[in-house]
Amino acid sequence: MIISSPASIRYFFGFTGSNAIGLVTPEQCFLVTDWRYRDQSRAEVHNAEILIAYRDLFVPLKEKNALPPGIRTGFEEHHLTYYLATQIHKHFPQIKLATTDRLLVQLAVPKEPGELRAMREAAHLACMVWEEIQPYLHAGVREADLAAEIIYRGRKAGSEADAFEPLVASGPRSALPHGRSSTRRLQAGDMVIIDYGCVFEGYASDVTRTIAVGEPTAQMLEVYRAVKEAGELAYAALRPNMNAIDLDKVAREHLKAKGFGNHFNHALGHGLGLDVHMLPRLGPESNDVIPPGCVLAIEPGVYLPDLGGVRIEDDVLVTANGVEVLTPITRELICVE
Ligand code: ZN
Ligand code: ZN
Repeated sequence: MIISSPASIRYFFGFTGSNAIGLVTPEQCFLVTDWRYRDQSRAEVHNAEILIAYRDLFVPLKEKNALPPGIRTGFEEHHLTYYLATQIHKHFPQIKLATTDRLLVQLAVPKEPGELRAMREAAHLACMVWEEIQPYLHAGVREADLAAEIIYRGRKAGSEADAFEPLVASGPRSALPHGRSSTRRLQAGDMVIIDYGCVFEGYASDVTRTIAVGEPTAQMLEVYRAVKEAGELAYAALRPNMNAIDLDKVAREHLKAKGFGNHFNHALGHGLGLDVHMLPRLGPESNDVIPPGCVLAIEPGVYLPDLGGVRIEDDVLVTANGVEVLTPITRELICVE
């Protein structure tokens, strides 16, 4: 198996550098990186023979004759770049490449104790950031400034990076489920979606809260209540080994019953770990199962064009008999001036 995605390299080898290839054969295990990472790889990698490349990462593997002609070799089809694929063909023209269809990601889904500690910390950092940005939640603040404050507060609290670019979308822009923060200023009558995440030891958190500036309309209050209930119904229904599609359905049916069925047009959520979006996928077309010990981000949302949207997202650990919420930020609607 050729391992090439940074998240898989980190998961299987503990290596955090930016340029590496892993190779696992029935007999041996190699991690190839370049000379910049010679010392770092020795400090981090203890389960593989480390090979240092001076240019092309596949040359040391060729010298080791690590992939004999005819051997069937798996690869990560969603990550292997065209460049690496041509390198493989150049150095190992006679191997047979086989797609592994998410095999590696599936292995990484249930979290081990050390991973869970990191995920709890990433979630905790996101909660701290939420507390710290409260003074900045008021009319007149620009979306981009609030996003910058989220990044700054996160770093000061100990987050290694942004899990993704924080999203602050206010007023009519909150109806765009994944727009970008703009220079628009928060104003009375806005719903404001704030979606961000922290990273600890490589593991990501991902939370969303929606606040109101001034008095929200009766309609938006109704939307807010429906979205909050949809999430809570999903937490109550969640059991290990259930089908992801059934969990999605719990939230989706509720929003449909409340008249917002046409306005919840993304998946209920996703797995979380070294990547922000991992398996299982919690959508209406998912074939995935939710294993015990996995961490999910659950994020029902309703978006009314031109009026605004509401999304509430929490990270939860799937336990033996239900869920533990890792991001215990209040889900009550916060109204600011
Ligand atoms: Zn999010
Ligand atoms: Zn998410």
